[in-house]
Amino acid sequence: MDIDTEVLVIGASPAGISAAAAAAAHDVDVTLIERKKEIGNPPHPANTFFEGMFDRTSEIIHHEYVIREMSGMHIVSPAGNRIVHETPGYIIDREKFDKYHAKGLIRNNVDIMTGVSAHNLIRKKNIIQTSTSDQILASNIVIIADGISSGLCALIGLHPTKYPHDIAWAIEAEVEADGIGDPDFFEYYIGSIAPGWKATYSPCGGDRANLGVFVRRHGQDVSRFFDLWLRRFAEEKNISDVSDIRIIRRHTGGDPIATIPNETVSDGIMVTGGAAGQSGICYGMRAGEICGMVAAKAVAASNTSKKALSEYRHIWEKELESEYMLGRSALEILRKMDDEEIDRLTGMFAGVNLSRVTGAGSPRSQAIRVMRFMLRKEPKTALSLLSPLIRSGIG
Ligand SMILES: Cc1cc2nc3c(=O)[nH]c(=O)nc-3n(C[C@H](O)[C@H](O)[C@H](O)COP(=O)(O)OP(=O)(O)OC[C@H]3O[C@@H](n4cnc5c(N)ncnc54)[C@H](O)[C@@H]3O)c2cc1C
Repeated sequence: MDIDTEVLVIGASPAGISAAAAAAAHDVDVTLIERKKEIGNPPHPANTFFEGMFDRTSEIIHHEYVIREMSGMHIVSPAGNRIVHETPGYIIDREKFDKYHAKGLIRNNVDIMTGVSAHNLIRKKNIIQTSTSDQILASNIVIIADGISSGLCALIGLHPTKYPHDIAWAIEAEVEADGIGDPDFFEYYIGSIAPGWKATYSPCGGDRANLGVFVRRHGQDVSRFFDLWLRRFAEEKNISDVSDIRIIRRHTGGDPIATIPNETVSDGIMVTGGAAGQSGICYGMRAGEICGMVAAKAVAASNTSKKALSEYRHIWEKELESEYMLGRSALEILRKMDDEEIDRLTGMFAGVNLSRVTGAGSPRSQAIRVMRFMLRKEPKTALSLLSPLIRSGIG
């Protein structure tokens, strides 16, 4: 049977674009299909990352898509304890970011088809046939990078995440108010204001900011949390009338932050990015790079079996799995704590610059340093709050 392309990537997500680029860089014939008519438009609301995350990718940050450089983050407890973490962060123009990376694909001769949706996949011997809104495309490998909600994996009986029901459902709004964009630290509020994860304040400069809530296990409609967050935010910032915060645009969506990758390969098929529980722009990009590199190697060796493609899973596990497990354990502890416990925990960091405690190094070694700090400062409280994390193997 003739093939149309050696590797077909479905979805121009950060992971999909990176997978296509990595495969093409290894001299295989790559086609990327994207259901939007234009890559990056409408833009995905995900528009921030930290340098330590971007360092995971093999790329460097380009200033043509950076809107604003930030000095770090404040983590704020229900009673207002602030943990300060100085770490370079970025707010990006997501449309420019996606288009910048799509240009790289064109340079690498990736065939890009926009306005084309994948509907189903059928495996015939060593060929995967993908039916799309345009035509049927035959390829040696299909990389599914279609985000959390498109459902192609379910159609073919793959279970790409361990905890598919643990998506953080989000509302993020672009807002406007006098001077709201001035501070250069992100603020993340934790506790019952956004159970299971965070309420966010990203000052974008001038009078613009993004405000969001990311909530787990309270259904997909999180608007009541968003309304509470707007009121709390107005109080925090001494804005007397909530209606002075003008909402320009609201985005809704799901973040697979705590869903954890599971089955990410099958014969001729690989899954990457949010679809595989690899949440986050930068971590998705790195997963995509590994995925594309292994896909190219498999095509060159004419072996696209699940066993050959499992190298992707092995490399990913070695490089990134412990960070995801650490993140999930931390979010689980947070989800199970009440506001008072969160205040006690964050109270230990009063007046402390978290960046001095964490130092440099991997997130795992940073987490261990944070735990040591807590155990030294308040052993009893730390032990009672952290024992689930220690039991999960992080310590
Ligand atoms: C409101 C919100 C804010 C967030 N903010 C951040 C942030 O600031 N920083 C961060 O790191 N992470 C953030 N996240 C998490 C982040 O969204 C994801 O981890 C990230 O977008 C990874 O992308 P993805 O793989 O999920 O795919 P997506 O970005 O969802 O991309 C999937 C692509 O596939 C296309 N597609 C889908 N189905 C098909 C199909 N059948 N055929 C063809 N094409 C298809 C879609 O059109 C889309 O372009 C946020 C999440 C949400 C919901």
